[in-house]
Amino acid sequence: MNLIILGPQGSGKGTQAKLLAEKFGLKHISTGELLRAEAESGTEKGKIIGKILESGELIPFETVIQVLEPALLSSKSGFILDGTPRDIKQLEYLDWLLKEKDINLDKIILLDIPREVSLFRLSKRAEIEHRSDDTPEVIGARLDIYEKNTLPVVETYRERGKLLVIDGTPDIETIFKDLVTKLEPLVK
Ligand code: AMP
Repeated sequence: MNLIILGPQGSGKGTQAKLLAEKFGLKHISTGELLRAEAESGTEKGKIIGKILESGELIPFETVIQVLEPALLSSKSGFILDGTPRDIKQLEYLDWLLKEKDINLDKIILLDIPREVSLFRLSKRAEIEHRSDDTPEVIGARLDIYEKNTLPVVETYRERGKLLVIDGTPDIETIFKDLVTKLEPLVK
């Protein structure tokens, strides 16, 4: 089973992607995590990536592709992609790559939460994790980018009839149960 998980920052994408990967034996591919690992590698390229991550801006897609493509193509038993596509250009690239490699997408999950819930959860996460891109100014900027660039991606998948909308406001366990109930029939 090949999945994409979309949702604003703070929707619990990363958490649910990890749980789903474990449950269904999928590879969890988080472009944010891959980029953070690259930033911490200490290389010149890593330093540049680190600066952009701190600002909350998007990383140039050519750089994202360099970490994404090998991860995607080496996943033998299915994947859950988290963090990409973030805009229509990325969606078009992914369409091309998946077609080229004859890989089918089963579902695109949207973890749906209102902006206020995102803001509240991210400010909490900032207190706990001290992630450099979770400062109040950067949080607002990242949500603006999501609304401007990623919502059109959501709409495109909705039009294609592959979108699975899940209420992202309850607790982790409730969201996970809802996801499993809706995804289990796909693997039977
Ligand atoms: P995330 O963990 O998905 O919220 O991603 C954290 C940061 O990684 C984002 O704010 C971007 O700077 C960068 N990033 C992750 N995925 C992408 C992507 N597909 N395109 C561009 N930048 C990305």
